[in-house]
Amino acid sequence: MLVDKVISKILRSEKILLIVHENPDGDTLASASVVYQVLKRLGKEVAIVCKDPVPKPFLFLPEMDKIQNDMLFGDYELILVIDCGDSRRTGFDRRLKDFVRNKKSLINIDHHPKNDLHKIANINYVDQTASSTAEIIWELVERMQVDIDKNIATALFAGLYTDTGGFKHSNTTPKTLQIAAELMHHGARIKLITQNVSLNKTIPALKLWGVVLSRLSKHKELKIVSSVVTRKDLITCGATDDDIAGVVNLMNTIPDSKAAVLFYETEDDKIRASARTEDDHVDVARLAAVFGGGGHKKAAGFTIDGKIEITQDGWKIAFNNTSA
Ligand code: 5GP
Ligand code: MN
Repeated sequence: MLVDKVISKILRSEKILLIVHENPDGDTLASASVVYQVLKRLGKEVAIVCKDPVPKPFLFLPEMDKIQNDMLFGDYELILVIDCGDSRRTGFDRRLKDFVRNKKSLINIDHHPKNDLHKIANINYVDQTASSTAEIIWELVERMQVDIDKNIATALFAGLYTDTGGFKHSNTTPKTLQIAAELMHHGARIKLITQNVSLNKTIPALKLWGVVLSRLSKHKELKIVSSVVTRKDLITCGATDDDIAGVVNLMNTIPDSKAAVLFYETEDDKIRASARTEDDHVDVARLAAVFGGGGHKKAAGFTIDGKIEITQDGWKIAFNNTSA
């Protein structure tokens, strides 16, 4: 079985590096947290690297203080890339390729559709039917007969919870809920998770959501609802980038829409887009791929070069010449 190959590779390695994706979400961080805890118990030398800082709502997860923003990859024998979708999302694209070229091992642990990581990884421990990478990590932990304590249970539950939008999205399967129930038996602290992830909306965050909602528009033919956030909005509302997370899911509750897309200006002067759909006939990953991004059928993202302009009767996006 694939999982056994992964376990045997892990057991044969002493120095293991975990890589989570840029702009990390609950699933990638929770999954890395669990793997870190398990590997530490086995006495391994282990580190976690993430290009971007951990967003506030996920700081409650165990071991977040261990995450570093860079690392000498050459010091490690094995890299586990967790929930990354494609190699660019690691933020260490070239260095990963060098790592593999130097005959070191890389395992891709993920639940995204096939991507370029498949080509360079020694093992692709990938299950597209899994709600989350945490669900795959649960299988790994089970197979390794790890004693699931409260910390591991809480992190795994947090991964399931965040990637299913609190068990509301259609990626939630009977298996997801069965695992969630088992994790509750193991002491998963659900209140801590919901408090941090869903119920922590500050006044600046809600003001920002208000701005987003006030700018909603629906394309007549495409039936796509969209809105925007500018850097100026963040300043006006006193909000941070972390406060943007989640509002696209609220936009996605509008009936009769095919998809919801939120565009927001990033610190480095680009435009990030978050796309969601509830329509089984729409694949937002394909839409994202057109712009060099990717993701899942029902939740995807991409980045473009451009500026958001707020006009008298709404908003528009001015693409830079260099953009796709
Ligand atoms: P979000 O909108 O929450 O940033 O991302 C939604 C989903 O799309 C996540 O599963 C994430 O992995 C994926 N995704 C977001 N941005 C990108 C991107 O630029 N490239 C790829 N390949 N996937 C992305
Ligand atoms: Mn995920």
